[in-house]
Amino acid sequence: MIERTPFIAGNWKMNLNVDQSTALVKAITVGINDISGIDVLVAPPFTNLFAVRQAIGKAGILLAAQNMHWEKEGAFTGEVSAQMLIEAGCSHVILGHSERRSLFKETDEMIDSKVKAAFLAGLKPIVCVGETLAERENGKTFEVIKNQLKGSLKYFVDKGDMPISTTLAYEPVWAIGTGRTATPEQAQEVHLFIRNWIKETFDQNTSDQIRILYGGSVKPDNASELMSRPDIDGALVGGASLKPDTFMGIIRF
Ligand code: PEP
Repeated sequence: MIERTPFIAGNWKMNLNVDQSTALVKAITVGINDISGIDVLVAPPFTNLFAVRQAIGKAGILLAAQNMHWEKEGAFTGEVSAQMLIEAGCSHVILGHSERRSLFKETDEMIDSKVKAAFLAGLKPIVCVGETLAERENGKTFEVIKNQLKGSLKYFVDKGDMPISTTLAYEPVWAIGTGRTATPEQAQEVHLFIRNWIKETFDQNTSDQIRILYGGSVKPDNASELMSRPDIDGALVGGASLKPDTFMGIIRF
């Protein structure tokens, strides 16, 4: 039986100022003091990354950005490169979040360019996929997920190799910020589908090692049931990651 270290990631989106961010991460630092065997990550807004990095200090909390551009530098007003994120102290970057896909019109091709740039710079991507409610109701869930995986991870697919430090996140769009969570069975079904796709596309070892997070209205009271499913290795948490007690409640699932 393959053991994958559970991974709980908090996506703070466009919330919290510098003081609030550092206070939150310090509270998490204290909260995880007596916990081991779990990876905890926070993804603050760009402007708070450096301060949060300082506040983390030597505590083992991982730091991610919520997005990046695929170019290294140049005339791309408003954008931030992988190298800049590394300089700010990030080890990870969230790519292809459904809000980026829907509100900012990011395509699988753009996400793939970002995945490639992140990987080449040494940042670990957390790549999000997920279907809309209409797609689920029309029986298109697996087709949509497969196309997103093939498109957003094309660089790795073409290479025939995906680093096991890559994390995937299944986030059904209809469950994000809506209070509506996929049932553990619905989530497990898609996670297994993703794991099988990894096996067919890469190999058994990659499929055994890659962590697949579930995201969509995860709360302290539904985390443990979700996490008990064999292919759910953690959670990408939005709203509930903004308060120490709810985020800690999920970490202590
Ligand atoms: C998210 O944005 O990644 C997310 C899962 O949000 P929430 O937990 O608020 O549904």
